[in-house]
Amino acid sequence: MSNNKKILISGASIAGPTLAFWLTRYGFDVTIIERSKSLRLGGQNLDIRGAGRAIVRLMGIEQEILDANTGEIGLQFVDSDNKVKAAFPSDGPGSFTSEAEILRGDLVNILYNSTKDRAKYVFGIFVTAINQTGDEVEVTFNDGKTETFDLLIAADGVRSTTRQLIFGDEPQLKFTGLYNAWYTIPKIDTDTQWARWYTAPGSRVILIRPDNHGTMRASFSFLSEDKGYQKLPNSEQKKILKEKLSGAGGEAERLRAEVEKNDDVYFDAISQVHAQKWFSGRTGMIGDAAYCPTPLTGMGTTLAIVGAYLLAGELSRHANHEDAFVAYEKRMRPFVEDVQKLPPGVPWLAHPKSKFGVSVVNTVAGILASGLVKKIGKLFSSKNEDVTKDKIELPDFKKT
Ligand SMILES: Cc1cc2nc3c(=O)[nH]c(=O)nc-3n(C[C@H](O)[C@H](O)[C@H](O)COP(=O)(O)OP(=O)(O)OC[C@H]3O[C@@H](n4cnc5c(N)ncnc54)[C@H](O)[C@@H]3O)c2cc1C
Repeated sequence: MSNNKKILISGASIAGPTLAFWLTRYGFDVTIIERSKSLRLGGQNLDIRGAGRAIVRLMGIEQEILDANTGEIGLQFVDSDNKVKAAFPSDGPGSFTSEAEILRGDLVNILYNSTKDRAKYVFGIFVTAINQTGDEVEVTFNDGKTETFDLLIAADGVRSTTRQLIFGDEPQLKFTGLYNAWYTIPKIDTDTQWARWYTAPGSRVILIRPDNHGTMRASFSFLSEDKGYQKLPNSEQKKILKEKLSGAGGEAERLRAEVEKNDDVYFDAISQVHAQKWFSGRTGMIGDAAYCPTPLTGMGTTLAIVGAYLLAGELSRHANHEDAFVAYEKRMRPFVEDVQKLPPGVPWLAHPKSKFGVSVVNTVAGILASGLVKKIGKLFSSKNEDVTKDKIELPDFKKT
């Protein structure tokens, strides 16, 4: 086992707690810090696919995840009057709604509960400075305190500031041309167990999905140049969202009214992270911080879970952290590069500009739904190609 026993993880969402789960199982002393004052439980559905599913099975939480299923029965394409133009029931690996469809917040809670007794969680804290010596890494926090650790791993998402402290500007954020906001809205009489996809002119899409908490999860996406909206304060972001929703038709007015009331709107410029290096000395990064593939791939959560499992495993079987990092990267990088390839036309195809474009989307969806092809995801994203993409070896680290 590694000599580097005291590990700090920054970020308590998916990648961080999964890493903590495995590290504590191998006998490491783990602290997780989270910038927010409590767990951030917002967001829509996340898929856990292929190798990610195999790992949650090993963690003993697969059944809990399946039990927390959102109850979504499939995807409908609707027009501005909410009339169904095409329907894709959830019926197997090719469908938009997967079997292990869980709300992000439910998954974060499950991971937190399965680690909170073995790892130390500290909320409302983030790293402001890092000083590496050969033997340790000294970390300064926003409260002015300092502490030394053997290793520091950033798992704090696509906009990681810890990554910036470690690597500066080297990691590239590649904007896909799409902005997306997610937030929770009250359920109303016309909501069903179907997810409803409404394509609006002006390159806008509204997706409303049922959840298992008696509410609905709204997603609003639109094409745009990079305008830096992601850097604005929450109140400014809400203004932009209301402007963009204006005149979109369908349920846009409902979403406009609700955005104001919501205190955890997650709004981002959908971007991939490409980094030449994932490690530097005694520091490194995993999950979206290191290799965000974007929700357009449907694989961000799977990558976060797989990366955490492999990194913990390699640290458990190498005495030297640098050897562990090299072994981990050799396994993980080809998988990441494969997942990050977006098919041509994503995300533009699903966000037409004109009314004519909208009618083409609905007509094509209708033809596909008529029985020829049920794998609707192929048209709009790469999310259903994971069957071929999930080819990564998962060693049994306990045996080696
Ligand atoms: C609030 C929220 C809502 C989301 N909603 C969706 C969604 O609806 N659909 C979807 O596909 N993906 C969504 N995502 C992204 C999704 O969770 C990730 O793509 C994926 O699961 C990989 O997880 P991760 O743990 O690497 O990163 P993330 O899930 O992004 O988690 C990063 C964590 O680090 C924390 N953090 C950030 N900066 C710091 C810091 N400096 N120090 C300490 N902690 C920090 C964040 O608060 C967060 O808890 C959402 C993420 C968040 C944070």
